[in-house]
Amino acid sequence: MTKIAVLREVAAGETRVAASAETVKKFVALGASVSVEKGAGLTASVSDAEYEAAGASVGTAAAVLKDADIVLGVQGPDPKALKGLSKGAWVVAGLDPFGQRKRVDDYAKLGVEALAMEFMPRITRAQSMDILSSQSNLSGYKAVIDSAGAYGRAFPMMMTAAGTVQAARVFIMGVGVAGLQAIATARRLGAQVSATDVRSATKEQIESLGAKPIFVESVAGIEGEGAGGYATEMSEEYQKAQAELVSSHIAKQDIVITTALIPGRAAPRLISDAQIASMKPGSVIFDLAVAQGGNVEGSKADEVVLKHGVKIIGHSNTPAHLPADASALFARNLLNFLSAFWDKEAGRPVLPDDDEITTAIRLTKDGKVVNERLFG
Ligand code: NAD
Repeated sequence: MTKIAVLREVAAGETRVAASAETVKKFVALGASVSVEKGAGLTASVSDAEYEAAGASVGTAAAVLKDADIVLGVQGPDPKALKGLSKGAWVVAGLDPFGQRKRVDDYAKLGVEALAMEFMPRITRAQSMDILSSQSNLSGYKAVIDSAGAYGRAFPMMMTAAGTVQAARVFIMGVGVAGLQAIATARRLGAQVSATDVRSATKEQIESLGAKPIFVESVAGIEGEGAGGYATEMSEEYQKAQAELVSSHIAKQDIVITTALIPGRAAPRLISDAQIASMKPGSVIFDLAVAQGGNVEGSKADEVVLKHGVKIIGHSNTPAHLPADASALFARNLLNFLSAFWDKEAGRPVLPDDDEITTAIRLTKDGKVVNERLFG
């Protein structure tokens, strides 16, 4: 019987867990046995008793890993903790392959097959397995909620007997999965919302959510969705035009949420110190890209930086601030992936070598690093 192991996350600040009671039940229904490390779900509000009721066994890390075929994680487990794992066992998690490149080599040395969930291709078939989408969506929501908490004023317009409270003006920079959810959340709270991106397809998406698109018009951006929905680094000319546009817009904003990322590169710098200085005191900037280098000059992960009277916030791990929902969706992504490849006869998931998903996410196999994105 295939044994699935779920370890307690040990990275600093990590509160999520890679399985929920629901996914344990479904793995058991597929014919697998599931073993969860004691206390693995506590920070995500899942008790050991709930895992047991769902059909898992709960034990020490050593007991959980013994004879495991598949190890599930939110972040990649320390290779040292995996000694004794059988050769060929799978390690399936968000493995941060570029940031933790040496760890990938260590997985190869252990002889395990490391599968990086963040390398899931953006194809329709894999949408339900995409951890970047499921976690970014929650991050976009949380950025607005935490900004609202740090803002000394209200979001919606209120007409009261004591006077009128003005609606907050919220500007979202970067309209991918996180940005779209940030727009929707700020709108629900009653703010006046505007948003910008470099990909032209987002203009319509911004409008359909009832927000105002603010776009560079003088220099062409990226046509349509961009390759795979991703942005690339923009030309100097574009960056200059964008900086001018932001300068004229940002001074009138109360809350700015930045979400801009470029795959495999540092986050683009979108807001300078001079632009921060032009904002009203009491304004809030939330830098969702702070862990990737930051979109905002001077932002620091897990700190509130006060600059020119403006609060700049950003979490190093935003989904970890909503551990229950983030874990439930992450766990579902893992379940959707493994169950899509489940081979009934083999009683376990089987990854065909020529499948687009296999080649995208497989980092190591048979003692070697095999992923093209990690060469060169
Ligand atoms: P992302 O996290 O890579 O980047 C966030 C946003 O920042 C993107 O919209 C990007 O265009 C924008 N950006 C980059 N540089 C910028 C700059 N200099 N100025 C302003 N904005 C900038 O993107 P994401 O959230 O992962 O997703 C992007 C797209 O991919 C979305 O349209 C999404 O719907 C699509 N997507 C598709 C699938 C699928 O089909 N399976 C899965 C996930 C996402």
